[in-house]
Formats: sequence, structure tokens, C-alpha cells
Amino acid sequence: MRLSRFHLATVKEVPADAEIASHRLMLRTGMIRKLAAGIYTWSPLGLRVLSKVEGVVREEMNRAGALELLMPSIQPKELWEETGRWEKFGGQLLKIKDRKDASYCYGPTHEEVITDYARNELRSYKQLPVNFYQIQTKFRDEIRPRFGVMRAREFLMKDAYSFHLTQDCLANEYRNMYDTYGRIFTRLGLKFRAVQADTGAIGGNASHEFQVLADSGEDAIAFSTGSDYAANIEMAEAVAPGAPRAAAMQALERVATPTQKTIDEVTAFLGVKPSQCVKTILVRGNDGLVALCVRGDHEVNEVKAAKLAELPGESMLADEAEIVRATGTKPGFIGPAGLPDSIPVIVDRSAAALADFVCGGNQDGTHYRGANWERDARITRVADIRKVVEGDPSPDGQGTLKIARGIEVGHVFQLGDKYAQALGATVLDDAGKAQVMQMGCYGIGVSRIVAAAIEQNHDDAGIIWPEPMAPWRVAVCPIGAAQNAQVREEAEKLYDELAARGVDVLLDDRGLRPGPMFADIELIGVPHRIVVSERGLAAGTFEYRRRGESENRSLSRDELARLF
Ligand code: ATP
Ligand code: MG
Ligand code: MG
Ligand code: MG
Repeated sequence: MRLSRFHLATVKEVPADAEIASHRLMLRTGMIRKLAAGIYTWSPLGLRVLSKVEGVVREEMNRAGALELLMPSIQPKELWEETGRWEKFGGQLLKIKDRKDASYCYGPTHEEVITDYARNELRSYKQLPVNFYQIQTKFRDEIRPRFGVMRAREFLMKDAYSFHLTQDCLANEYRNMYDTYGRIFTRLGLKFRAVQADTGAIGGNASHEFQVLADSGEDAIAFSTGSDYAANIEMAEAVAPGAPRAAAMQALERVATPTQKTIDEVTAFLGVKPSQCVKTILVRGNDGLVALCVRGDHEVNEVKAAKLAELPGESMLADEAEIVRATGTKPGFIGPAGLPDSIPVIVDRSAAALADFVCGGNQDGTHYRGANWERDARITRVADIRKVVEGDPSPDGQGTLKIARGIEVGHVFQLGDKYAQALGATVLDDAGKAQVMQMGCYGIGVSRIVAAAIEQNHDDAGIIWPEPMAPWRVAVCPIGAAQNAQVREEAEKLYDELAARGVDVLLDDRGLRPGPMFADIELIGVPHRIVVSERGLAAGTFEYRRRGESENRSLSRDELARLF
């Protein structure tokens, strides 16, 4: 690619709401431009990177034996009613009507559509197992889209769905996908961990998330120092491997007292699952604001926000923006790991006490307003909450727990028969008997990976792409080409040679001075830079620098050829 013919539109200033490095850098490089909240255009530069990520995902999915298809993004209401999710999915579901007043949604995920496809296509156990996947735009009306494409409303996902006759067969494919995800994230050059996860709104039994480790991550994960144990933090607090929900329920029951509401009452009231209530904390800001936060799970946040709006006495509840103002914390970081230690925090993992709180307080209906927070036994400080996990013995008994922040880039689930049962997706077994199929589903946030990679790989000058997702691998930068025909010709020759060898090479033929030229090439993160200059040519060398290193190396043409 000749840069003079490309649309490179780097900018110096970015809006103040670009809080994290990846969001700032994606705007500064011009990779993305915002159209509306959580909705972005990918520029030619951005798309080059996105397509490379997509390519790696596609190659590894194909290698794992999955079959690519493409489903519609607009999905009819009737299908979602069959699984009950038209209502249950909540506010993230973007509902639309056509001119005949028929209702549709823009697909946030495709369990319904694929299961409908499977119930029509798959008749016999002989067609199983099979794993279908697509790479496609999803829409989720996130309550608070933020951090650019990291938490967008419209985003690109790879979603795969496998069908099986038996649970054992499903477990095998789950393992296959788990390993495939490991290969994908390793190839992309990311530092990641697979962690045990809650199954959330998708449902099902076993589930793992793939978390890219980064301080800006919205999730908190706990690792053991002495074993492979790793879990999303709300799981780590109370949960041993193997029995997550049961253990979470036990933990809730331990803290609930008989005078308080039952867990079922609370969860029914909030419209969440008991296991999700483990994540609940109550936060009080310096000036007396009180808020409810549900750690980690944005879907639950949304349900809760909607519910709380219906409550009497809601004025004592602050939204996240108010807490941010009152406490001086960053939005998006509300939660134990983000709050300064000086803020009193009421930790309450008891769903029952939460119910008392949101339902207006004590049995007689009086509010907690005025309550003596300082004397309340449940009041603690952020540092104390951290202790709940960090340094605790690992649930598997090996080593102790450490906490890190993570960005969820992938999620695998064993759904079992949840959707196949609801939609009547059966095949005939070898005895000619109809059997409900077992299903797995496997998601990767293709567009989120781009942002996550930048979070892990940048410096003051800009992005440092892992090679497999760099927009170009090499940049050839001639200095003074306009005045010096030899420089121009040598740069062209080098560019042609590299291109002919299949190297993804960029020629910066814009005629810029070295300062602005290098600044752009560093900002957009090209891994290898070769400078062609009069001085270098006189000595028979090119100046080579690897992005992220500070030293130049003078290399002969032969030495260069060996590098690529
Ligand atoms: P999160 O917890 O971040 O909201 P999720 O658990 O709701 O994600 P899944 O339903 O597991 O997401 O979807 C599969 C993948 O899609 C996620 O692992 C994530 O990488 C990506 N993803 C989900 N929501 C978004 C979003 N709003 N913007 C970008 N990527 C997303
Ligand atoms: Mg999640
Ligand atoms: Mg979500
Ligand atoms: Mg998930």
C-alpha cells in the first residue's frame, strides 16, 4: 500500500470521554469514528486490523472442524417468544417493527435462530455432531456503552453453536472449542486467562470466559498462586470448582437472618438469579449518597436500574454518574477495585438484606435514611472487601488467591438442552427414537479484541501491534525522496521486493518530514520500520527499527531480506 493513496487520518485531540488508552488511540489513529452512542464506523485502517483478527478466528474455527454459515441479523419476535426471551432478555434487546406492524429484534445473539435452523435441518443422529459458526454484527442496547468498541452497542462477534446427541459428545466439543480459543488468543499475541464463569442470561451449565489481562478491564478475576484455578471474582468468593450455583446459594443462606426476606423473594423482586446476587454491594459516597452496584454483570445492572426506578424512596439511590462525581472515581470503575480506600462501603452479599434495602428498609417500612452507617456491622472499607478474595486460600485448596482485572474476549457455554427443548429440536437416534439435542455455544468478541490488544500493547507514541493483527507488517520510510532520486528509487525498489515476497508492506510516499512521518508510523503501530536515507545509502545500509524498541540498527539489503 502506498500511503499517499490511502486514507490515513490521524488526529492529535480526542474527546474527553475517551478514558482508556485503546479508545483514545483508536480515535487518534482514525481507526474508528463515532456515529452515535456505541455505534462506530471502522475506517480503512481500522478495518485492516479487524479483518486480520477475523481471519485468525476463521482459520482456527475451520481447523477445529466448525462450519461457517451466515444467519440474518433481523429476527422475528415469534421465535424469541418460543424460548421466552422476548421478555426475559431485557432492555438490551433492540425491538423493531416493519410496515405491517410485525415485530422483530436486531440479533444480540443467535441461539434462537440457529436452533430453528437445526430443528429443520437435522433429522438423524448421523448428522451429528456438528458445529456451525458465523462472524457477524450484533446489536445490544447496552445501558452504558463506553470505551469505544470495547463496550459498543453494535459490534462484531464470532458465535458458534454445536449440536450433539449426548452430553459426553457436547463435553468433547466444549473441550475442542476451549483449546481452539486458546490457540486463537495465543496466535493473536494476547496475554489471557481462561476462567470459570457464571452462565448469565445465556444460561446452561459449564462455562468459561477468556479474559485478556488489563488494568482497564471491567471484570475482576481471581487466580490461585498454587494451581490452575481461575474464576470470575464473584465466583471465586464463595465457589469451589464444580458446584458454582449450589455454593453461591449456601453462601447467601449463611448471611441471611430469619427476619429478613428470603433469597427467592429478593431475586424474584430484582428479576435476577440468586447466584448473581453474590455480586451485590452497596456503596456510600462521601456526601451521603447511597447506591447499589452489581459487580461485573451489566445485564443485571440494567434489570436492577429499571426495577429501582419503580421503588418508593428511590431518591436516596444514586446512579453511577452521581457516585463518580461524589467520589472522584472514574466511570466504569465503580466497584471494589476502583474505589479509593477512604470511601466507606457497605458490603452485603446477603440478598435478603439487599431486599430490605431496596424494598424500603425494615419490616415496618422505615427507610435506612439516617440509619447509623458507622455502627452497622456490615460497614467495611474497600480494603476489607479486597481481603475477601486476595490472599484467601484457593477453593481447590492449592495456594492462595490473587486478583487481576480482565477484559472478556471469549465465552464458551455448555447449554445442554435448554434451547433445543424449548424449540423442539430433536433428531432420531439409532433406535429411531426422537431425542432432544444437546447444545454448546461459543462466542468471541472480534471487535472487542482489537481494543483489548491495544490495552495490552501501547506506549506514549501509540499502538504496538502484535504482528498478526498489525495493519501492515513493515513500513518503508524514505527521507527527502522529493530532492533525491536515488532515495526515491531505492525505497520503491525495496517496497516492490517486499510486496512481491508477500510481505504486507506500506510505503510512506507522502513526502512528510521525518518527524511527522515517524510519529504517524509509530502511532499506528507498524511493527517494523525501514528508513531509506541519503546517508544510509552512501554507507550501503538501511536504518531499521522494531516498534517498541528505542535503538536503530543499520542493516544491509541482505540482512534486511533475512528479516522478512
Ligand atoms: P459482557 O460481560 O462484557 O457484557 P457478555 O458476557 O454479555 O459480555 P457474551 O454474551 O458472552 O457477552 O458474548 C460473547 C462475546 O461478545 C463476549 O465475550 C465479548 O467479547 C463480546 N461482547 C459482548 N458484549 C459486547 C459489547 N457490548 N461490545 C463489544 N463486544 C461485546
Ligand atoms: Mg460477561
Ligand atoms: Mg453483556
Ligand atoms: Mg459472556
